[in-house]
Amino acid sequence: MPGFEIFGAEERKQVNDVLETGILMRYGFDGMRNSHWKAKEFETTFAETMGVAHCQLVSSGTAALTVALAAAGIGAGDEVIMPSFTFVASFESILALGAVPILVDVDDTLTLDPKAVEAAITSRTKCIMPVHMCGSMADLKKLKQICETHNLLLLEDACQALGGTFEGKPLGSYGDLGCFSFDFVKTITCGEGGAIITDNKKFAINADQYQDHGHDHVGKDRGAESHPILGYNYRISELNAAVGLAQLTKLDGILGTQKKNYEVLKENIKSIEGVTFRRIPEGGVENYSFLNFFLPNQEVAEKAHKAFGENGIDSCFYWFKNNWHYVNGWGHLKNLKSSQSISTEMKAQLQDLNTVDFSQSDFWMGRNISILIKLGWSDEEVSKRAENLRKILIEIIK
Ligand SMILES: *Cc1c(COP(=O)(O)O)cnc(C)c1O
Repeated sequence: MPGFEIFGAEERKQVNDVLETGILMRYGFDGMRNSHWKAKEFETTFAETMGVAHCQLVSSGTAALTVALAAAGIGAGDEVIMPSFTFVASFESILALGAVPILVDVDDTLTLDPKAVEAAITSRTKCIMPVHMCGSMADLKKLKQICETHNLLLLEDACQALGGTFEGKPLGSYGDLGCFSFDFVKTITCGEGGAIITDNKKFAINADQYQDHGHDHVGKDRGAESHPILGYNYRISELNAAVGLAQLTKLDGILGTQKKNYEVLKENIKSIEGVTFRRIPEGGVENYSFLNFFLPNQEVAEKAHKAFGENGIDSCFYWFKNNWHYVNGWGHLKNLKSSQSISTEMKAQLQDLNTVDFSQSDFWMGRNISILIKLGWSDEEVSKRAENLRKILIEIIK
């Protein structure tokens, strides 16, 4: 997945364009910037790549989620349904707006279970937020139907699935809004950065204003701009956008390398009895950033994960026991450890995550191993890795 592996002359050239003028800000200073508008250029190119009308670049993937929710009108007391397996950014962005995260089970896709989503809908539900974890997608068709039936927004977190598609559409472009992260370990990186895409003009205008203190961006005098809405500062800098512009030209190459390496690994372990793979919803194509498979039970999965580590096979993840990605590890959320006070209304509306039953998620997560696909592996390294994986798995499952 990581675009940082192929940082090179193209990124340096883009950054140098900005350094030569010294205009590190994305707005204003028209006369001094030597016609360099890196953030603007990224937005135009990315919208084209994703086949959507609008793209808003921001400072991180977490900022993208926050701005997307705010732009779509999600606020105090509104419930957003999200999966138990994701990144902490999902509930952080929701909570930041005074909205309420409602966590539900994942299924064998390792993403939102549509049945669990339907069961969690209340009169306060405003949005469903599937998270396309580890390179593959939620069952977007079913989720969209649910959204249409209940008049809800569909916001895709595609931070880990840039380049994947569903029914021929790029992930992130299927729902009402899509969010991406370009942090340092993502498919392409800006160093830090994120983006929101949408075809909805109103959401796009709101996002543009919200991420820059409510500025309307009309005219050429920033000081004279008006503020149609309250906003915040989630702007990206020109330096970060410049890195991303170079990385964007490498996206097709990255996806090709990922697919090639992924297929070698999968081919070598697929016939092992007891190994099954994550379900890819019909109509979906992964971005091949991770290979995800299930083992017969939790004990075998833990053993395998340990054995991979001991045998020098790096970049294998057992998310079930991971502090960032699974509800099990989120003690701070479960126990509402906050530096600020949390309103009584919010407290009353939040789930008690210490008592919610996530046994269905546990069933899938406890047996799952994810292998991060790297770009820098030589063909020889991939073959050797595949062979080692195969040997260890056969040894452990027997
Ligand atoms: C990385 C990531 C984010 C947040 O992105 P940052 O740029 O690190 O803030 C959100 N959701 C998912 C699924 C991610 O992997």
